[in-house]
Parts: sequence; C-alpha cells; structure tokens
Amino acid sequence: MTLIAVLPGDGIGSEVTRETIRVLERVCGDRLSYEEAPVGGAAYKAKGHPLPPETLDLARRADAILFGAVGDPDCDRLERHLRPEQAILGLRKELALFANLRPAKLFAELADASTLRPEVAAQIDLMIIRELNGDVYFGEKGMRTTTSGLREGYDIMSYDESEVRRIARIGFETARARKGRLCSVDKANVLETSQLWRDVVIETAAEYPDIALSHMYVDNAAMQLVRNPGQFDVIVTGNLFGDILSDQASMCVGSIGLLPSASLDANSKGLYEPIHGSAPDIAGKGLANPLATILSAAMMLRYSLGMAPEADRIEAAVSAALATGARTADLGGSFNTTAMADAVLAAL
Ligand code: NAD
Repeated sequence: MTLIAVLPGDGIGSEVTRETIRVLERVCGDRLSYEEAPVGGAAYKAKGHPLPPETLDLARRADAILFGAVGDPDCDRLERHLRPEQAILGLRKELALFANLRPAKLFAELADASTLRPEVAAQIDLMIIRELNGDVYFGEKGMRTTTSGLREGYDIMSYDESEVRRIARIGFETARARKGRLCSVDKANVLETSQLWRDVVIETAAEYPDIALSHMYVDNAAMQLVRNPGQFDVIVTGNLFGDILSDQASMCVGSIGLLPSASLDANSKGLYEPIHGSAPDIAGKGLANPLATILSAAMMLRYSLGMAPEADRIEAAVSAALATGARTADLGGSFNTTAMADAVLAAL
C-alpha cells in the first residue's frame, strides 16, 4: 500500500493537514495509508530537534510527504539550527528535492480576489518550476575587505550542466502534461551562468520535439507576468529568479491560503505543502483556509502517485465548492476550516 508521511508541523499546519486527510480518504479510500510524525517547533518541544531522526526516517520510507507548515514564536530565540524552519531546509537537502513546482491558476469564482484587473487575472494558469538546490544560494559566499579597506559581501552564482539538464527535463515533462509550452527564464545577456543555462536548455529540447520552447530574460518575465500572464504555460528557471517570480505569480491569483506546491527529487518522490507558513496569528481559531493544502494533496496524487484522475476530482471539487459561495475569512467569507473542507467533500 502507498504510504504517506504526514508532517503537520506547527500552528495552522495541523489544522489544514487534518482536513486534507479527510479529502484524501474520501477520494483514495484504502489505497493510501498515513503515518504521522512531528516536525518543526512541535518536534523540538517533543524530541529536542526540529527534524528528529525518526521523522526523517519516515520521510525517507514514505512514497510521498504531506507537509503542513513550521514556525513557532516560542522558538524564535533558539539557536538557528534548532529553529522550526530548519526542518524544511533539512528535508529538502536530505531528500535531494531539487525541483519546486508552484502552479498559479485563478479560480474563476475568485476573479475579484486578484490584485490584477479581472480580465488580466482571468488568464492566469501557469506553472513555475524553480530549481531548489543550486545557484547563488549555494555557491561560495562570504564577507571580505577590499584593498581600499571597504567591507565587501560576495555570493558566487554557478550551475553545472547536469543541474540545468535535470531541471530542464522536469520543465519539458511538465509542459508535455499541460499545454506543451515551456518558457525558460534567464539573464543570458549578462550572466555566464545564464548563458550555460540557455545552451543546455536548448540542447535538452532535442529530446522534446513536441514542446514549444521559448526564452525570456528575467526582467522582461517579471513585467510580462503582470502585463499578459496568459501567455505562459510552464516557466522553468533557476533558484534566485524562481524565488522572486513564483511569489509574484502566486499573489496574482488571490489569497496565500489557496496556493499549493511540490518539491520533487529525481524520481518524482515529493514533499507537498501549502506555500503559506504556520500563521500563528490565526492558529487554533478555525480560521485557516485548508484549500492550499488540499490542492497540494492533489499535486501529490498527480506528480508522485500516478493518480491524475483523482487529482482532477479534487481540483474540480475545490472549484465547485468555491462556486457554491464557500469562503474562509481570508476570502471574505465566514466558513471555518472544517466547514470549508466539508464544502469540498460535499462537492466530491
Ligand atoms: P504565514 O504564511 O504564516 O502568514 C502570513 C499571513 O497570511 C498571516 O496573516 C496569516 O494569518 C495568513 N495566512 C497564512 N496562511 C493562511 C491560511 N491557510 N488561511 C488564512 N490565512 C492564512 O507567514 P508569516 O506570518 O510570515 O510566518 C509565520 C511563521 O511561518 C514563521 O515562523 C515563518 O518562518 C513560518 N513559515 C513557514 C513556512 C513553511 O513551513 N514552509 C513558509 C513560510 C513561513
């Protein structure tokens, strides 16, 4: 049987994962089994470490990981390696989760929730694929003093061709499962790292003759995302550019409580989590929107478990629930967390 590691974490993490399991149980029945382990501040309090060995072991054994959120104000003064947020960084590193997939799609029912004009927002249905394990975040970095005595910070940007090829392949495969268009975003007019990126993406394209590949400089991409987001299907980009563009794109579609994500390894094993954090300001009040986590579970079925029809059912049920007027407070409604999940279950 397929094993799901359930890591609820802190704050609203446990509230949104609990509701998501109800939806998964309805859609997948006894084809999935679940095993839960503490992570983040909850794990620090219970076991003395944000990512205890038994939690990491469960994450390794499982076929996929459903993650809530980590972050606990009680832990803000701990040494950095014991803080809750280290758990997610540790999982990405230990499990070699190098591909971050963030879809951004406007639910027609929520056209007025976007900061863009409704006719522009209505076009958004794209996927940003961000490389997670390389780039300027992982290169040599430091502080030094120049010959003239000035303090200087530096961070080296680099990618080797194997890193670019494996994320490019994820981009092409994802485009193949969608509308067949891939836009690679770089800064090849200025950066050597980007020139290599572009060359390797073009070489890799030979394996995917059915995909329409285009290239865009990152500054233009940032502009096009708000000018004409409908032109994009799949965007593939490096860690730094992806960090910025994925936040930009995601906020064009409304509340943070709606947005799912996947982080995948080379074998499509993945960690699935809402993009939001533990929201200590609303934890325990039943105010959390569970849809981002429910949609993350749909991604899990599609990308790691080969259950695309079930994923489609969940996504359609979320749309249908929104169409009935179900809204949590972040969307201007009065549904609590459980009532919102009930609306999805009713639509199923
Ligand atoms: P946050 O995403 O937790 O909250 C930002 C705002 O959005 C808050 O007002 C919150 O109430 C609201 N919000 C978030 N999720 C919501 C939901 N599902 N429904 C309704 N409203 C929602 O970000 P923050 O406040 O900057 O951080 C809180 C903690 O979460 C920090 O400790 C931070 O480090 C952590 N964090 C963790 C992750 C993660 O686990 N991957 C990601 C981001 C932040």
